[in-house]
Amino acid sequence: MFLDKMPNVQSAKQVTIMRAKPGKPIQGLVTGSLIRVMTHWYKGKTLPCLLDSLNKCPLCKIGIAKRYYAYYSLRGAKGGAAMLELTATAEAELMDYAKQCPAGSVLLVTASRAPGKKNNPIHVSVEFRDCSAENMIAINKADLDKDIMKRSLTRLWNLPEWGLGMREDVYVEIVSSHIQEVIDGNV
Ligand SMILES: [Zn+2]
Repeated sequence: MFLDKMPNVQSAKQVTIMRAKPGKPIQGLVTGSLIRVMTHWYKGKTLPCLLDSLNKCPLCKIGIAKRYYAYYSLRGAKGGAAMLELTATAEAELMDYAKQCPAGSVLLVTASRAPGKKNNPIHVSVEFRDCSAENMIAINKADLDKDIMKRSLTRLWNLPEWGLGMREDVYVEIVSSHIQEVIDGNV
């Protein structure tokens, strides 16, 4: 009945990451928050790029190519909050639509991949919805905190836990060691 320790509230906050699968479009309202990140695909996993400007990214040092992803906070059709994963090309399409967005409107985005190959390019289409009080309340409620988005990504990538209140530069050092372990084959 009574618990010895606090329940793990952080894992309860794990956010669903939505990726368009071939022939299965994803749709939701763009709520505002977004995270942009460079990653590396290495030994069958995605790992974050620690940016070579800091000269700290072990995967840049060994010449592994980088891939860009953007994660948009989204309100799904059933009202849940999720993060939509977009490639650079798909995000550029979204940006073009956003420029045409009439004042007082919000974006209902659809991300899709043509049926067939898993790596078919993602394309985005958009409908404009009015900023009714109902829509605005729904959007504000579903908009994700950026820290929660970052933590969800670090869990998705199986990185060491990002301690509450830990500074990003401190965490980058920990991740850098972790990535080095992956390179050395210890993880
Ligand atoms: Zn890198």
